Amino acid sequence: MEIIKIILKSGKDQSVRRYHPWIFSGAIKKIYGEPVEGDLVDVYDNKDEFLAKGHYQPGSIAVRILSFKDVIIDKDFFAGRIRSALEYRRSLGLLAPGNTNAYRLVHAEGDNLPGLIIDCYSGVAVMQMHSVGMYRVRHEIAGLLKDIMGDELKAVYDKSEGTIPFMSGVTASNGFLHGASDPVIVTENGFKFRIDWTTGQKTGFFIDQRENRKLLGEYTKGRRVLNMFGYTGGFSVYAMKDAELVHTVDSSGPAIDMADENIRLNFGDDPRHRSFKTDAFGYLNDIKDKYDLIILDPPAFAKHNNVLANALQGYKRLNIKAIEQIRPGGIIFTFSCSQVVTRENFRKSVFAAAANTGRSVRILHQVSQPPDHPVSIYHPESEYLKGLVLYVE
Ligand code: SAH
Repeated sequence: MEIIKIILKSGKDQSVRRYHPWIFSGAIKKIYGEPVEGDLVDVYDNKDEFLAKGHYQPGSIAVRILSFKDVIIDKDFFAGRIRSALEYRRSLGLLAPGNTNAYRLVHAEGDNLPGLIIDCYSGVAVMQMHSVGMYRVRHEIAGLLKDIMGDELKAVYDKSEGTIPFMSGVTASNGFLHGASDPVIVTENGFKFRIDWTTGQKTGFFIDQRENRKLLGEYTKGRRVLNMFGYTGGFSVYAMKDAELVHTVDSSGPAIDMADENIRLNFGDDPRHRSFKTDAFGYLNDIKDKYDLIILDPPAFAKHNNVLANALQGYKRLNIKAIEQIRPGGIIFTFSCSQVVTRENFRKSVFAAAANTGRSVRILHQVSQPPDHPVSIYHPESEYLKGLVLYVE
């Protein structure tokens, strides 16, 4: 097979030499061959020195780098990367049998596998491919998961329908690549959640908030809790442990149903919990002094840099409403999961919101994503989740 060679412009090799895993189209001087989306390509500097190998895609990010070494990208290559991802999580104690069996096994660039996400729910692996290159090797990867995880793995589900770049013309359809399973009930820090990967957002659950939910649990005792953008009720379940009341708000009906079901799974029909299917911004117009713990975990307000300013305004508006109306001595868990919003920018938005209200606000914690969503030090963009825990006097 003809090897497609991409030559970078002078000076554009610098970021590759610092192991950044993306090559932007503007950095390319010449392409030898006619790659189609998903092809493996070799990248060279303008003096013809080898730099990296990766998956090609036409678009702003032209190459997602798989290796900075001139190795063969085959089944063994992917097996090595998956073993490394598994070993890393094992060393953190995440795979030990115990009170958590939902974790992220592969976090794209954070695990040196750009374009690939794998979440594990009690023996069911849910894969989400974000590039055509990874989509093409999905069967190989599903087979490797089976080989590497053995009996631990019951099924592999592919949920790439909504994540393959739509411009690619490749149509993915969701379904099992290996085995089959009904929805499962996982345990997270001792709490139960029903996971249905076929519906809903991401792979069915926001695993990335696990540690922040645990932290929340330290502050809920006797409080009146409002969980905005509640989705499957992750934060609400933790709060129900010892809060006076918990209200879950989400604009999606199926999300509210799932949240209710998860509350029932852990606490039965407990009148302390109520859910509201309604728009968050409208709901927040009239909550004065009703709550003393508020969680704000909205969807990504900015998916692209060109809407960054609007997104920052959105975070500011949302946080003003909460900071303004929370009871004295209240606590706010506020998050941004937009990749293009930096930690600094998010903090500035929340600062601007606080200043707008004039209330005294202290930062109790600055939080992020858990270690099964690792950030490669060479790829700061993989740090997407940032949060602040505030004390409002
Ligand atoms: N906190 C959740 C994840 C939130 S995902 C967890 O820990 O699992 C974002 C949620 O916001 C989705 O469930 C989506 O339905 C909801 N949402 C989006 N826009 C909304 C709006 N304007 N008002 C209320 N909910 C909204």
